[in-house]
Amino acid sequence: MARKFFVGGNWKCNGTVSEVNKIVNVLNGADVPPTDVVEVVISPPFVFLPQVKAALRSDFAVAAQNAWVKKGGAYTGEISAEMLVNLEIPWVILGHSERRSLLKESNEFVADKVAYALGQGLKVIACIGETLEQREAGETMTVVAEQTKAIAEKVKDWSNVVLAYEPVWAIGTGKVASPAQAQEVHVDLRSWLATNVSSEIAESVRIIYGGSVSGANCVELAGQPDVDGFLVGGASLKPEFVDIIKAAS
Ligand code: PGA
Repeated sequence: MARKFFVGGNWKCNGTVSEVNKIVNVLNGADVPPTDVVEVVISPPFVFLPQVKAALRSDFAVAAQNAWVKKGGAYTGEISAEMLVNLEIPWVILGHSERRSLLKESNEFVADKVAYALGQGLKVIACIGETLEQREAGETMTVVAEQTKAIAEKVKDWSNVVLAYEPVWAIGTGKVASPAQAQEVHVDLRSWLATNVSSEIAESVRIIYGGSVSGANCVELAGQPDVDGFLVGGASLKPEFVDIIKAAS
């Protein structure tokens, strides 16, 4: 089964009403490959989700950047998966390294969130990735396998999951993984999935790369057979994001 190229734009904690309008206008005017070639998902901060959803072209979807681990209730400051479903937000990013490190989200907590969000009918971009220390210690595969295993223990149906391999050392640093480095981890992840989940899921799940993806490096990365797209941070706030979407063709 061919894996459709996927490009996510993670705006993180950025934007004002007028900046959001500007970015959406650029996206709406962009000439990009058709939806059978590329799936584009834009992830603004929670407060801008309704604004972006209302204004954004219909061939691009929206994603939240987080969701609470269970049903809503007395959890001040949290946003539940049910609320996202109610607002017809189809996607959510979970387990981003910034949340894992700054907010101490563990592998198990992230996996619980993934399972809960999927159970509510959301589609999930699940993020994994190693730190520089872990890479230098030769632990990259052990770390990403542990992160993926936690999810695999709680998730049986992977059809609504996109796995985002985002090495922490590449996020927001300008130090992009080389195409060979990205391809190597994606292949290893696919073989981990084949051994521990199933060969069908290993073959069909999209594994996208994130970490300093730019207009300048996206084409070479996209040329790797196991790189099925990108999760883009900084460059997703710029017109350059359109060039990254075009890397799908
Ligand atoms: P970056 O962020 O593209 O700014 O490195 C990627 C991400 O955190 O998803």
